[in-house]
Amino acid sequence: MDTLLKTPNKLEFLHPLHGYSEKLSNSASSKLQNQELRFGPKKSHLKWGGFCVRASSGALLELVPEVKKENLDLELPLYDSSKGVVVDLAVVGGGPAGLAVAQQVSQAGLSVCAIDPNPRLIWPNNYGVWVDEFEAMDLLDCLDTTWSGAVVFINDHSKKDLDRPYGRVNRKQLKSKMLQKCISNGVKFHQAKVIKVIHEESKSLLICNDGVTIQAAVVLDATGFSRCLVQYDKPYNPGYQVAYGILAEVDEHPFDVDKMVFMDWRDSHLDGNMELKERNSRIPTFLYAMPFSSTRIFLEETSLVARPGLQMGDIQERMVARLKHLGIKVKSIEEDEHCVIPMGGPLPVLPQRVVGIGGTAGMVHPSTGYMVARTLAAAPIVANAIVQFLGSDRGFSGDEVSAQVWKDLWPIQRRRQREFFCFGMDILLKLDLPGTRRFFDAFFDLEPRYWHGFLSSRLFLPELIFFGLSLFSHASNRSRIEIMAKGTLPLVNMINNLVQDKE
Ligand SMILES: Cc1cc2nc3c(=O)[nH]c(=O)nc-3n(C[C@H](O)[C@H](O)[C@H](O)COP(=O)(O)OP(=O)(O)OC[C@H]3O[C@@H](n4cnc5c(N)ncnc54)[C@H](O)[C@@H]3O)c2cc1C
Repeated sequence: MDTLLKTPNKLEFLHPLHGYSEKLSNSASSKLQNQELRFGPKKSHLKWGGFCVRASSGALLELVPEVKKENLDLELPLYDSSKGVVVDLAVVGGGPAGLAVAQQVSQAGLSVCAIDPNPRLIWPNNYGVWVDEFEAMDLLDCLDTTWSGAVVFINDHSKKDLDRPYGRVNRKQLKSKMLQKCISNGVKFHQAKVIKVIHEESKSLLICNDGVTIQAAVVLDATGFSRCLVQYDKPYNPGYQVAYGILAEVDEHPFDVDKMVFMDWRDSHLDGNMELKERNSRIPTFLYAMPFSSTRIFLEETSLVARPGLQMGDIQERMVARLKHLGIKVKSIEEDEHCVIPMGGPLPVLPQRVVGIGGTAGMVHPSTGYMVARTLAAAPIVANAIVQFLGSDRGFSGDEVSAQVWKDLWPIQRRRQREFFCFGMDILLKLDLPGTRRFFDAFFDLEPRYWHGFLSSRLFLPELIFFGLSLFSHASNRSRIEIMAKGTLPLVNMINNLVQDKE
């Protein structure tokens, strides 16, 4: 396994003006650049892949505050490297995925070390989930705002009301809750970045950037899209969801505060700019909005999925035009969000010695970019497999434990489900704005169990076929022809992959 080369994590972005792709390779400098794009100081957004953001977004971006790094006020028990103890589990990465597993494995009495460069930092992403997903995990106390439903604007004349409550995750509360449970279960923390792993028969050695080595029976890579330790052996070719969001104080906005705006595909804001309108028609973006009050709102211009991914500057320009058209005057910005989510692409090597969860383990929904609820729901599966095998008297080897964890995380029915979602992504990648509108017009007309189940990864293969047939029957004739024309090759690929993937 050690000989496998990690496939470079290439990000491809589309130049907004000339339509050619710029490849950011994994060289030292561009890797640094990629990191900055995702996690870096907010002022770095003024340049994206070497192209300047257009002047029209300048006034809005001027309102963006310097990054406020807020830490949780918690005392974390530190890992003592001088003792040379081998912990049962080392969790690399303290995002939602890593902490959820750390909490549950430690709950069973196993020793856990959690490693993150900023373990007390409040997570930066603004997470939205369907309320029923959090209710099922008894996490309703970790939502700070809920809306009784959501709306989808297909175009200027058609709007869908979705009767499904939506919520915003209170990331401070969720992280505090998880950290407090970890602390009371005895988890030890180490503030550093892991740079390397060395495996031995019964343990692994994690080398950190501060020179400390942590020894663990099992290593969990929960480093999100950094994919720090988990290995891939196939070309990494995801689609990218790219979005720019602001939490803003505004004079007023036109949205109902009881409903969140799941997707607004209207494009009349671009009528005065034919070049931008044409660009949006080819690769559309939509507005996602969470109105907290009549003057406070989270607004995010989003490219659902594109390959190569859209440029942030392009998205910001579209957002500025939209806000102007909607009469939304931004008075101040509390925080902004640069979102780049790799979607689809291959799964990591299954199995492999390092286990993974969350972004690093291919768990993003390939058709939607959502993952938080699915990851939190999968954490007990990973934790149980680790606890069961490490706790067993038989003395399993490191490879045997990891193999079981991967098997439980990605059983055949989940892999087949993901293949279907990748098929959905492949169709979405080919649709222009009119095609996308027709697709969602039919999608949100489906019986709720179908669209709820699809979005929340609750449908498995036999049901997904009925979902597909139902979608086809709800689609307009034009949309059916389009799905057949654009979906045939992805369908053949999907069938091929399904046939090749054996238990
Ligand atoms: C801006 C944005 C908005 C999103 N919004 C939503 C949403 O609304 N709903 C939804 O369901 N999903 C959303 N997602 C997708 C997904 O749910 C998130 O990316 C989620 O944070 C992934 O969780 P994670 O724990 O796998 O990784 P992360 O949250 O990315 O956490 C990874 C952690 O690993 C640490 N780390 C990285 N490298 C190392 C290393 N070498 N050593 C030690 N630690 C390391 C990082 O510092 C970080 O703390 C969003 C993604 C982004 C980027």
